[in-house]
Amino acid sequence: MLVNLTDIFSSEGKTKDMDVSIEMEVFSSRFGEYPILEKSPISFRFEHISSDRAKVSGSARVVLDMQCDRCLKPINQEVCLAFEREVSPVLEDGAEISEDDDAGIMEGYSLNTEVLIYNEILMNQPEKVLCKGDCKGICMVCGHDLNDGECGCDTFVPDPRMAVLQDIFNANKEV
Ligand SMILES: [Zn+2]
Ligand SMILES: [Zn+2]
Repeated sequence: MLVNLTDIFSSEGKTKDMDVSIEMEVFSSRFGEYPILEKSPISFRFEHISSDRAKVSGSARVVLDMQCDRCLKPINQEVCLAFEREVSPVLEDGAEISEDDDAGIMEGYSLNTEVLIYNEILMNQPEKVLCKGDCKGICMVCGHDLNDGECGCDTFVPDPRMAVLQDIFNANKEV
């Protein structure tokens, strides 16, 4: 959604609180596509700084449908967002007042809330997603979930075929 901030830029001392819903249904990044299972509205506060500067702060919460990096079990990953930044208008003739990172977030005098929230999720999503801190993962031999107990496979002796592949891989790496 585009929120017009003209009155925030133009009126000294002006502040405005506003709730905006998140339209995005799926969060896609280079790591994958994650459906958004739950989302709160974004609660915004806008504050005048100068005629071409405003403070945007707010918070939101989303729950992403992700999976454990080790055992691949589905996880409802909560991501809590709390942000505070300054924005400037990005003028259409290219004579922008703002810094580069406002591009996309600001369109003219309006704030694109979807772009802002996308960037916030990107910065705040956990690097490692685990169902629990000590998840044992799955057996590389039989695929058994090792959190449910040992499967009895000997995982310490590499499969000779795998060893050959490993050698090829290493040889290629050295080239
Ligand atoms: Zn796990
Ligand atoms: Zn196994």
